[in-house]
Amino acid sequence: MRRPLVAGNWKMNGTRASVAELVSGLRKQSLPEQVDVVVFPGFLHADQVLTSIRSLDLSVGVGVQDCSPDPDCGARTGEISAHQIADLGCAWVLVGHSERRTFWSESDEVLTQKCRAAQQAGLKIVFCVGETLEQRESGISLAVVEQQLKAVLPLLDAHETVVIAYEPIWAIGTGLTAQPNQVQEIHAGIRAWLARCLGAGSATVKNMRILYGGSVKAANACELFAMPDVDGGLIGGASLSADEFGAICRAA
Ligand code: 13P
Repeated sequence: MRRPLVAGNWKMNGTRASVAELVSGLRKQSLPEQVDVVVFPGFLHADQVLTSIRSLDLSVGVGVQDCSPDPDCGARTGEISAHQIADLGCAWVLVGHSERRTFWSESDEVLTQKCRAAQQAGLKIVFCVGETLEQRESGISLAVVEQQLKAVLPLLDAHETVVIAYEPIWAIGTGLTAQPNQVQEIHAGIRAWLARCLGAGSATVKNMRILYGGSVKAANACELFAMPDVDGGLIGGASLSADEFGAICRAA
Protein backbone atom coordinates (compact mmCIF):
# COMPACT_ATOMS: atom_id res chain seq x y z
CA MET A 1 0.00 0.00 0.00
CA ARG A 2 1.33 3.42 -0.92
CA ARG A 3 1.08 6.05 1.81
CA PRO A 4 -0.92 9.05 0.52
CA LEU A 5 0.77 12.44 0.35
CA VAL A 6 -0.94 15.80 0.19
CA ALA A 7 1.27 18.80 -0.50
CA GLY A 8 0.46 22.50 -0.52
CA ASN A 9 2.35 24.65 -3.02
CA TRP A 10 1.96 28.18 -1.71
CA LYS A 11 3.67 29.61 -4.82
CA MET A 12 4.56 33.34 -4.56
CA ASN A 13 1.99 34.05 -1.88
CA GLY A 14 2.02 35.15 1.72
CA THR A 15 3.51 37.62 4.14
CA ARG A 16 5.09 36.84 7.50
CA ALA A 17 1.72 37.55 9.11
CA SER A 18 -0.42 35.49 6.72
CA VAL A 19 2.01 32.57 6.83
CA ALA A 20 1.91 32.58 10.65
CA GLU A 21 -1.88 32.53 10.49
CA LEU A 22 -1.89 29.70 7.96
CA VAL A 23 0.41 27.49 10.03
CA SER A 24 -1.55 28.11 13.21
CA GLY A 25 -4.72 27.35 11.22
CA LEU A 26 -3.23 23.98 10.28
CA ARG A 27 -2.82 23.16 13.96
CA LYS A 28 -6.59 23.41 14.37
CA GLN A 29 -7.15 20.84 11.62
CA SER A 30 -7.20 17.20 12.50
CA LEU A 31 -4.65 16.10 9.95
CA PRO A 32 -4.92 12.35 9.31
CA GLU A 33 -2.05 10.25 10.67
CA GLN A 34 -2.02 7.90 7.69
CA VAL A 35 -1.29 10.75 5.24
CA ASP A 36 2.02 12.54 4.66
CA VAL A 37 1.38 16.29 4.64
CA VAL A 38 3.98 18.69 3.23
CA VAL A 39 3.89 22.44 2.63
CA PHE A 40 6.01 24.39 0.17
CA PRO A 41 6.23 28.04 1.26
CA GLY A 42 8.30 30.63 -0.61
CA PHE A 43 12.02 30.68 0.23
CA LEU A 44 11.69 33.76 2.42
CA HIS A 45 9.16 32.07 4.68
CA ALA A 46 10.70 28.60 4.86
CA ASP A 47 12.63 29.25 8.09
CA GLN A 48 9.61 30.82 9.78
CA VAL A 49 7.39 27.90 8.73
CA LEU A 50 9.94 25.31 9.92
CA THR A 51 10.25 27.04 13.28
CA SER A 52 6.53 27.35 13.88
CA ILE A 53 5.78 23.80 12.71
CA ARG A 54 8.39 22.55 15.20
CA SER A 55 7.14 24.68 18.03
CA LEU A 56 3.52 23.63 17.40
CA ASP A 57 4.68 20.00 17.13
CA LEU A 58 2.85 19.52 13.83
CA SER A 59 3.52 16.48 11.74
CA VAL A 60 3.93 18.47 8.53
CA GLY A 61 6.96 18.34 6.24
CA VAL A 62 8.43 21.48 4.73
CA GLY A 63 9.96 22.00 1.31
CA VAL A 64 10.74 24.82 -1.10
CA GLN A 65 9.60 25.40 -4.65
CA ASP A 66 12.93 25.39 -6.49
CA CYS A 67 16.67 24.91 -6.11
CA SER A 68 19.76 25.82 -8.07
CA PRO A 69 20.96 23.31 -10.66
CA ASP A 70 24.50 23.88 -9.38
CA PRO A 71 25.50 21.33 -6.78
CA ASP A 72 28.16 23.49 -5.15
CA CYS A 73 27.97 26.76 -3.31
CA GLY A 74 29.73 29.66 -4.94
CA ALA A 75 29.39 32.48 -7.43
CA ARG A 76 25.73 32.21 -8.48
CA THR A 77 24.18 35.52 -7.46
CA GLY A 78 20.59 35.17 -6.35
CA GLU A 79 20.54 31.38 -6.38
CA ILE A 80 19.83 29.01 -3.49
CA SER A 81 21.56 25.67 -3.47
CA ALA A 82 20.07 22.33 -2.51
CA HIS A 83 22.67 22.07 0.26
CA GLN A 84 21.56 25.40 1.73
CA ILE A 85 17.94 24.21 1.61
CA ALA A 86 18.82 20.99 3.41
CA ASP A 87 20.97 22.90 5.90
CA LEU A 88 17.97 25.08 6.77
CA GLY A 89 16.08 21.93 7.71
CA CYS A 90 13.80 21.49 4.69
CA ALA A 91 13.32 17.92 3.52
CA TRP A 92 11.61 18.50 0.17
CA VAL A 93 11.94 20.43 -3.08
CA LEU A 94 9.60 20.85 -6.07
CA VAL A 95 11.29 20.39 -9.45
CA GLY A 96 9.78 20.86 -12.90
CA HIS A 97 6.66 22.81 -12.01
CA SER A 98 5.00 24.00 -15.22
CA GLU A 99 5.25 27.61 -14.09
CA ARG A 100 9.04 27.25 -13.94
CA ARG A 101 9.15 25.34 -17.21
CA THR A 102 7.07 28.12 -18.85
CA PHE A 103 8.18 31.40 -17.25
CA TRP A 104 11.85 30.48 -16.74
CA SER A 105 12.16 28.19 -19.79
CA GLU A 106 13.57 25.41 -17.64
CA SER A 107 14.76 22.66 -19.96
CA ASP A 108 14.89 18.92 -19.34
CA GLU A 109 18.63 19.32 -18.95
CA VAL A 110 18.37 21.95 -16.22
CA LEU A 111 15.67 19.93 -14.46
CA THR A 112 17.92 16.88 -14.49
CA GLN A 113 20.70 18.96 -12.91
CA LYS A 114 18.29 20.25 -10.26
CA CYS A 115 17.14 16.72 -9.42
CA ARG A 116 20.74 15.55 -9.19
CA ALA A 117 21.72 18.48 -6.94
CA ALA A 118 18.68 17.84 -4.72
CA GLN A 119 19.47 14.14 -4.40
CA GLN A 120 23.11 14.85 -3.58
CA ALA A 121 21.95 17.16 -0.80
CA GLY A 122 19.59 14.49 0.55
CA LEU A 123 16.38 16.32 -0.37
CA LYS A 124 13.23 14.49 -1.43
CA ILE A 125 11.80 15.59 -4.77
CA VAL A 126 8.30 16.18 -6.06
CA PHE A 127 8.87 16.10 -9.82
CA CYS A 128 6.07 17.75 -11.81
CA VAL A 129 4.92 16.88 -15.31
CA GLY A 130 1.89 17.78 -17.40
CA GLU A 131 0.61 18.68 -20.84
CA THR A 132 -0.91 21.84 -22.34
CA LEU A 133 -4.53 22.02 -23.49
CA GLU A 134 -3.38 21.89 -27.10
CA GLN A 135 -1.40 18.71 -26.43
CA ARG A 136 -4.39 17.14 -24.68
CA GLU A 137 -6.66 18.00 -27.58
CA SER A 138 -4.14 16.40 -29.94
CA GLY A 139 -4.31 13.19 -27.90
CA ILE A 140 -0.64 13.23 -26.90
CA SER A 141 -0.95 13.84 -23.12
CA LEU A 142 0.70 10.60 -22.05
CA ALA A 143 3.45 10.88 -24.67
CA VAL A 144 4.29 14.40 -23.41
CA VAL A 145 4.40 13.24 -19.80
CA GLU A 146 6.56 10.22 -20.69
CA GLN A 147 8.99 12.49 -22.52
CA GLN A 148 9.25 14.77 -19.48
CA LEU A 149 9.89 11.77 -17.22
CA LYS A 150 12.33 10.16 -19.62
CA ALA A 151 14.67 13.12 -19.17
CA VAL A 152 15.10 12.27 -15.49
CA LEU A 153 14.59 8.50 -15.65
CA PRO A 154 17.92 7.49 -14.08
CA LEU A 155 17.04 9.66 -11.07
CA LEU A 156 13.48 8.37 -10.74
CA ASP A 157 14.35 4.89 -9.57
CA ALA A 158 14.19 6.01 -5.95
CA HIS A 159 10.59 5.76 -4.81
CA GLU A 160 11.42 6.61 -1.22
CA THR A 161 12.80 9.99 -2.15
CA VAL A 162 10.98 10.91 -5.36
CA VAL A 163 7.29 11.56 -5.93
CA ILE A 164 5.76 12.31 -9.33
CA ALA A 165 3.07 15.00 -9.63
CA TYR A 166 0.88 15.00 -12.72
CA GLU A 167 -0.37 18.55 -13.20
CA PRO A 168 -2.09 19.19 -16.53
CA ILE A 169 -1.31 22.83 -17.32
CA TRP A 170 -4.89 23.53 -18.45
CA ALA A 171 -6.15 22.57 -14.98
CA ILE A 172 -3.73 24.70 -12.94
CA GLY A 173 -5.40 27.72 -11.37
CA THR A 174 -8.21 27.61 -13.93
CA GLY A 175 -10.93 25.93 -11.91
CA LEU A 176 -11.00 23.25 -14.63
CA THR A 177 -10.21 20.01 -12.83
CA ALA A 178 -9.38 16.97 -14.88
CA GLN A 179 -12.03 14.27 -14.55
CA PRO A 180 -11.06 11.42 -12.19
CA ASN A 181 -11.02 8.92 -15.09
CA GLN A 182 -8.76 11.21 -17.16
CA VAL A 183 -6.38 11.48 -14.20
CA GLN A 184 -6.44 7.73 -13.55
CA GLU A 185 -5.67 7.03 -17.22
CA ILE A 186 -2.52 9.18 -17.13
CA HIS A 187 -1.40 7.89 -13.71
CA ALA A 188 -1.85 4.26 -14.78
CA GLY A 189 -0.03 5.12 -18.02
CA ILE A 190 2.89 6.55 -16.02
CA ARG A 191 3.06 3.39 -13.90
CA ALA A 192 2.95 1.18 -17.01
CA TRP A 193 5.70 3.27 -18.59
CA LEU A 194 7.83 2.94 -15.42
CA ALA A 195 7.32 -0.84 -15.65
CA ARG A 196 8.51 -0.83 -19.27
CA CYS A 197 11.57 1.25 -18.41
CA LEU A 198 12.56 -0.26 -15.07
CA GLY A 199 11.13 -3.78 -15.34
CA ALA A 200 7.79 -4.90 -13.95
CA GLY A 201 9.43 -6.35 -10.84
CA SER A 202 10.99 -3.02 -9.83
CA ALA A 203 9.90 -1.78 -6.40
CA THR A 204 9.68 1.72 -7.87
CA VAL A 205 6.85 0.69 -10.20
CA LYS A 206 4.69 -0.51 -7.33
CA ASN A 207 5.70 2.06 -4.73
CA MET A 208 6.16 5.31 -6.67
CA ARG A 209 3.61 7.81 -5.43
CA ILE A 210 1.88 9.76 -8.19
CA LEU A 211 0.03 12.90 -7.10
CA TYR A 212 -2.53 14.86 -9.06
CA GLY A 213 -2.50 18.67 -9.14
CA GLY A 214 -4.77 21.18 -10.84
CA SER A 215 -7.74 22.93 -9.19
CA VAL A 216 -8.08 20.35 -6.42
CA LYS A 217 -10.49 21.53 -3.72
CA ALA A 218 -12.24 19.91 -0.78
CA ALA A 219 -15.29 19.42 -3.02
CA ASN A 220 -13.53 17.28 -5.65
CA ALA A 221 -10.64 15.72 -3.66
CA CYS A 222 -12.52 12.58 -2.58
CA GLU A 223 -13.40 11.41 -6.08
CA LEU A 224 -9.89 12.12 -7.38
CA PHE A 225 -8.16 10.39 -4.46
CA ALA A 226 -10.47 7.38 -4.85
CA MET A 227 -8.75 6.48 -8.13
CA PRO A 228 -6.40 3.50 -7.65
CA ASP A 229 -3.28 5.20 -9.04
CA VAL A 230 -3.86 8.60 -7.46
CA ASP A 231 -1.75 8.69 -4.31
CA GLY A 232 -2.60 12.20 -3.16
CA GLY A 233 -2.46 15.73 -4.47
CA LEU A 234 -0.34 18.81 -5.07
CA ILE A 235 -2.57 21.70 -4.12
CA GLY A 236 -2.10 25.32 -5.17
CA GLY A 237 -4.79 27.91 -4.43
CA ALA A 238 -6.78 25.75 -2.02
CA SER A 239 -3.70 25.18 0.17
CA LEU A 240 -3.75 28.85 1.18
CA SER A 241 -6.80 28.19 3.36
CA ALA A 242 -6.09 25.97 6.38
CA ASP A 243 -9.70 24.77 6.50
CA GLU A 244 -9.80 23.85 2.82
CA PHE A 245 -6.34 22.24 2.88
CA GLY A 246 -7.21 20.31 6.05
CA ALA A 247 -10.36 18.97 4.39
CA ILE A 248 -8.34 17.90 1.32
CA CYS A 249 -5.84 16.09 3.57
CA ARG A 250 -8.69 14.26 5.28
CA ALA A 251 -10.01 13.15 1.87
CA ALA A 252 -6.75 11.34 1.06
P1 13P B 1 -4.09 25.03 -8.30
O1 13P B 1 -4.48 24.05 -7.24
O2 13P B 1 -4.20 26.47 -7.84
O3 13P B 1 -4.77 24.77 -9.60
O4 13P B 1 -2.51 24.85 -8.56
C1 13P B 1 -2.01 23.57 -8.77
C2 13P B 1 -0.54 23.65 -8.75
O5 13P B 1 0.08 24.23 -9.62
C3 13P B 1 0.16 23.05 -7.60
O6 13P B 1 1.52 22.97 -7.83
